[in-house]
Amino acid sequence: PVYLDHNATTQPAPEVIEEMLDSLQKVWANPSSTHAPGQAARRALTDARTRVAQFLGCLGAELVFTSGATEANHIAVLGALAQGRATGRTRLVMSAVEHPGMLALAERLRGEGVVVDLIGVDARGVLDLQCARRLIGDDVALVSVMGANNETGVLMPVAELAALAHAAGTFVHVDATQLVGKTAARFDAGGADLWSVSAHKLHGPKGVGALVVRKGLNWPALFAGRQERHRRGGTENLPGIVGFAAAAERTARTLAHDMSHMRDLQGRLESGLRAALPGVHLYGTGADRLPNTSCLRFGTLDAEQVLGKLERAGVFASSGAACTASGTQPSHVLLAMGEPALHARASVRFSLGRDTTAAEIDQTLAAAVRALGPLLHTVPAPAE
Ligand code: PMP
Repeated sequence: PVYLDHNATTQPAPEVIEEMLDSLQKVWANPSSTHAPGQAARRALTDARTRVAQFLGCLGAELVFTSGATEANHIAVLGALAQGRATGRTRLVMSAVEHPGMLALAERLRGEGVVVDLIGVDARGVLDLQCARRLIGDDVALVSVMGANNETGVLMPVAELAALAHAAGTFVHVDATQLVGKTAARFDAGGADLWSVSAHKLHGPKGVGALVVRKGLNWPALFAGRQERHRRGGTENLPGIVGFAAAAERTARTLAHDMSHMRDLQGRLESGLRAALPGVHLYGTGADRLPNTSCLRFGTLDAEQVLGKLERAGVFASSGAACTASGTQPSHVLLAMGEPALHARASVRFSLGRDTTAAEIDQTLAAAVRALGPLLHTVPAPAE
């Protein structure tokens, strides 16, 4: 089978598993303990912190290890609101195409009376900076936007957004979960105050990630406790953090090569599908995109049906549309791009990894032609 769902998660790299096992077996003491084994664990934590920081382009002291990007996003948003209460900055601005976890948090906060405004995107899926300019004012506690969209792979104009936010005296948080390992983006070059990242998107373990907090910012914690310089209480997930460091180092070593390799295969997949099947519509064209992500629809075939056919043909992909008891829910990302629900229920995402091969792409093309071709020739091809 061919796994083309790397934006959902990636397989832990062998060196990640090896370092994690070693850590679990040998460095299992509590890094807060003052005895020798505890101090050995403390040194291992410091070493891992340095390696992750070097990869992300931040200082070790700027890293707050968390259980993943979802938690990091929560610390960013809830910390901004907590600080804003003192300064009269009570409103949140984020994008309409954020990760579902972030939009769910926004919904919950709205229920508690917080005003959350959403920046729209254009037909390509790129953040609308005019809209951002209108929404960002001096009552805003935080502007939060993803660096790259997980469904379309479209890159967001983060530097421009940061300039707008800073002009209004507000903080900028970037959910960099999909940027890391697929672009050369670095925290110190991006203009953001806060960055969320997750290890399992770069062949590291699940359940570990980080919030990068720019030096000098005193960000309130979500979990009280002494760990992570009082910014995240709870005994550190040392094997996870060590695995994160191994993944970061491994990613850094081959990133330039991996990016061009994935870009080549992305082109091979997209041009191959468009040449072989009628009615293939690719999203995000005309925008800068991640080198590994292709979001497209096959005419108006329902995503659920497409994914089922592909899976039976040995290809695992995914969709922004969610299958529920009441039918397929359209992707909120495609709806925000102005697509009708019929199309937003049809979008399928292929996300490649650094280990994806040309043979796997060719296998995917053959599977798509075999599984979807007969269906596409019987439905009217929509106007492109
Ligand atoms: N943000 C984005 C953009 C993501 O793609 C994901 C993973 N699907 C998350 C946040 C959540 O990350 P985690 O699984 O580490 O909580």
